[in-house]
This record gives sequence, structure tokens and C-alpha cells, in this order.
Amino acid sequence: MTLTTAPLENVQFGGPALRQLRNLVTAIPGPRSIELNARKSAAVPRGVGIALPIYVQAAGGGVVMDVDGNTLIDLGSGIAVTGVGNAAPAVVEAVTEQVNRFTHTCFTVTGYEGYVAVAELLNELTPGDHEKRTALFNSGAEAVENAVKIARHFSGKQAVVAFDHAYHGRTNLTMALTAKSMPYKSGFGPFAPEVYRAPVSYPFRDGNLSGPVAAARAITQIEKQIGAANLAAVIIEPILGEGGFILPAPGFLAAIAAWSRANGVVFIADEVQTGFARTGAMFASEHENLVPDLIVTAKGIAGGLPLSAVTGRADIMDAAHVGGLGGTYGGNPLACAAAIATIQTYRTTGLIERARQIEAVLREELEALQLLDPRIGDVRGRGAMIAIELVDPATQEPDAALTARVAAAAHANGVILLTCGTNGNVVRFLPPLTISDELLRDGISVLREVLAAS
Ligand SMILES: *Cc1c(COP(=O)(O)O)cnc(C)c1O
Repeated sequence: MTLTTAPLENVQFGGPALRQLRNLVTAIPGPRSIELNARKSAAVPRGVGIALPIYVQAAGGGVVMDVDGNTLIDLGSGIAVTGVGNAAPAVVEAVTEQVNRFTHTCFTVTGYEGYVAVAELLNELTPGDHEKRTALFNSGAEAVENAVKIARHFSGKQAVVAFDHAYHGRTNLTMALTAKSMPYKSGFGPFAPEVYRAPVSYPFRDGNLSGPVAAARAITQIEKQIGAANLAAVIIEPILGEGGFILPAPGFLAAIAAWSRANGVVFIADEVQTGFARTGAMFASEHENLVPDLIVTAKGIAGGLPLSAVTGRADIMDAAHVGGLGGTYGGNPLACAAAIATIQTYRTTGLIERARQIEAVLREELEALQLLDPRIGDVRGRGAMIAIELVDPATQEPDAALTARVAAAAHANGVILLTCGTNGNVVRFLPPLTISDELLRDGISVLREVLAAS
């Protein structure tokens, strides 16, 4: 298969003189990073862990340069955040312009245009032609919390359903929604009440149940154990991210959404990780023609500045009383300026198409690798959100130890590679959409070598 390099002419690589090449000049981590990490250990609680303890001095395009002068291939985008690239020039310019005008007013004290413009863009771009409203917050977890608040206020009901393998954040309510105990929940309870869990569709591990059959199983459980009369909302990630890049079988999401609609239950799509061109569409819901009642976004929204949003049906969003929603920093003017530039970049520089090209390269490389290595049980995902699940070839049991060894060896060889999965046995690929094919293929060649040696 021949693949053309993406139309990146409007996207320059960030940072001065950042060569788009993997280049190690010290061991990883190098001496300066080790020194900074010693300061970190003395100043920051150990609960704030670092997966790859290099310390960064510049990043852009498809690379990250550390303080020792090593250049690493970025296959993580700071967990799916820098889709437009790190220090993307359009973002830098917009934020610089804004920072010279004003940095903060608190939108709920005095307004400014940037907030309204981001809301208008999200109302236009999210799935569905219905009338919408958008409220802005700071983090994904804060937006999820607000989506649930809004759904409860609108419906007058309290229960919320989340799914197996779900990840929705680390605040109290979102820990309750998140499925995985270690490291996200263990020891941090008690958790928020009225949160229930339903089985998701996980084709690789549920015997390939069809989407409608898996949905019927979930719906039966919801009806028997909770009842639609008590249920405010169902929340789900169109591709379950931290849980292992689980892509539900076709028709699963649509059946859950249709049941929700028919039963007066607010259907919330958590697109914090899947949103903004990442999956080869502006939002992953589009792949299944889903029109969520509420859609939660964050990560890829603002090129790395902290911003999140809840966008949805005007009747639901307007249900809460005046003053019921907000926060000191939500929709900060710098983050809004960054978001406008970021969203414009996704729309005008071919990055949605680029995500599909990245999928083609990753699938070609990873499926070829799977043929040679039966420890790769599954290759799955969409766009620039692709994963491999590592297993014992004899039993298909998850192999978390191999996964950890592979990630550590990739790090040592100059590739920022992330893992995920409830069972810790998934390697995930989340490159910035500005990465070149050459870097992508070089990153996979490192994976091939470290897998062979692990
Ligand atoms: C990362 C993530 C969150 C939480 O976002 P934060 O900004 O870390 O609070 C919520 N939902 C999903 C699907 C995520 O991937």
C-alpha cells in the first residue's frame, strides 16, 4: 500500500529547530532528567506518577525534546490532547494575542466574545442539527460532572449508568463512574451514590456478540436493576479509552441511544478522548450516526490549554436555573482563544483526513506484526486512536507484564508509548495528527524490535 504524506502545508512544526527525527544522545532518562526527577520526588507526592521520567524542553510535529537533548517520537500526544501538534503555530499566535489583551475576568462576572465563539463552534460542529447550547469548564472530569448535574436537573431523576471498562475521570463523582480500581479508585472512597454499571460490548472478549445482542443484555440489566423511571442518564465513550480502546460492535451504541431516547433517559457521549478529528471524524459519534443528547469534550479541544465543554440539546442544557452552572476559570479567555485556533486548524488543514491516513499506516504495520507474533491478540480502534491487546497466545489471557516490558523498552529506545486497559495489557497509539509517516513507521519499527526481544 502506498500512502501519501498528509497535506500539512498550513501546519508548521512547533518549536525552533525541532528536527523531526528520533535521536538519542544520552541514556533515557538522561542526567538532567534524573536530576529534575530527584527534585520532583522531594517536592511532589508519589501519587502523581510519571510514566516516562524525561523532562521536556520543547515539542512539536511528532517529537518531544528533553532537557538532555534527546528527541523522542511522540505516540501519546499528552494523552490525546495535542492533536493539532504541540505548540501549534496558530495556537501560539492566538494565545499570545489574547494574553496581551486580558487573561481572566471570570465569565460569570463579565463576559467576553471568545467563550461565546467556542460555544457557537461546538454547537455547529457536534452531531445533530437541533438547537444546542454549550457550557465550558476546565477538565474532562469537571465537564462529565456537569453533564450529570444537567441531566439530573432536566430529568428530575438521580440514577446514572456507566459501563464496564469506562473511564470518566478522577473527581469523586467521576471516580464512581470509572470502572477500574487501580490506580484510579483504590483507597479513595466512599464514592458518589446512584451510579450503576452495565456490561459493554467488547467483541474480542465477549465471543463477538453482535451490537444489538450486547445492547439487549445491557438494557435488560438496566431495566431489572434500576428501572428507567429512576434513571437520569446513561454515559458512554464511543470508543472506551483508558479501558483498552474497546470499540463496541456495530449497532451497540445506537441501540443504547435509542432505548434512552424512548425511555426519557439522557444519553451522554463522553468524547473527551475520541473527539476532535482523533478517530478520523470530528467526533467518533459520527461513525455510527449517533446524535447524543449531551456530548462531553476536552483533551483535543484547545491544543494543550485546559478547557472542556458540555454541548447538547437546548431544552436539557437550559433546564438548570440561572447561576446553577459555572466556576471561576471555566472557559478561560486564553483557553478559548486556543480552542478557536485549534478547531479552525482541524477544519482547514486536512487533519481529519490525516487521522484516517495514520490509521492506514498503523493498521498496515500492526496487522503485519500480528501475523508474525501471536501475542498480539487484537488490533483495533479508529483513526489515530489504535491499540494492540497483548495476550498469552495459548489462552488469550491478558499479558500485563509483557505490556509493561514493551512500553519500558520503547521508552528506552526513544518512543513515547502509552499503555491502557482494565487488565493493563493494551498498548495504545495516540500520535499527534501532525506526525509524519516516517516517524510513525520508525516508532513501529522500535515496537517490532522490543516485542521480539521481550
Ligand atoms: C481523560 C478522560 C476524562 C477525564 O479528563 P480530565 O481532563 O483528565 O479530567 C474523562 N473521560 C474520558 C473518556 C477521558 O479519556
